[in-house]
Amino acid sequence: MSNNLVENLSKIISKLPGMGPRIAKRIVLHLASNKDKTLLPLIANLQMLDDKIHNCETCGNLDEGRVCGICLNQNRDESLICVIEEVADLWAIERAENYRGKYHVLGGNLSAISGKTIEDLNLDSLYSRLKSGKVIEVIIATSATIDGQTTAHFLAESLKEFNVKTTRLAHGIPIGSELDYLDEGTISIAFKTRSEF
Ligand SMILES: [Zn+2]
Repeated sequence: MSNNLVENLSKIISKLPGMGPRIAKRIVLHLASNKDKTLLPLIANLQMLDDKIHNCETCGNLDEGRVCGICLNQNRDESLICVIEEVADLWAIERAENYRGKYHVLGGNLSAISGKTIEDLNLDSLYSRLKSGKVIEVIIATSATIDGQTTAHFLAESLKEFNVKTTRLAHGIPIGSELDYLDEGTISIAFKTRSEF
């Protein structure tokens, strides 16, 4: 089986996290030979994913509805906002189960390689949240990579005009690591020992 359709689909799948060209082709073959059990349910669920899941208009998280469950949750401390790069980082922090504030998802970091700039990040909605006056502390939890740290410094500077305390995660985060790959214990310690910017 080798035609444009297979090639195109393999190319798309190979761009997914953790995928490569060979496994992508195997997946396409598997789907084509298991239509009822796998392909059709996958199509239906992908369609639902597209229909139902959106970026929260407050924080950028992915969830059903215009505003996500965390933003709507009144038991969470709205005076605390943790700024992260991706939704996967939010999930990583939630797994650690010790943070009870709110979040803000930037949608990436300032990266020379990917060409992301300040305009590409989800910043306007962060600034409007800070203008509400309800926020006391912003925890900058970008990755401990060069791009993550560049983004953290930019944020710390740009948040100076707001009346908020700015902290960053400290001990326990290995240099060069992304939050999503860390264990819960490391993330918990990093939160507890966060320091002022
Ligand atoms: Zn939200």
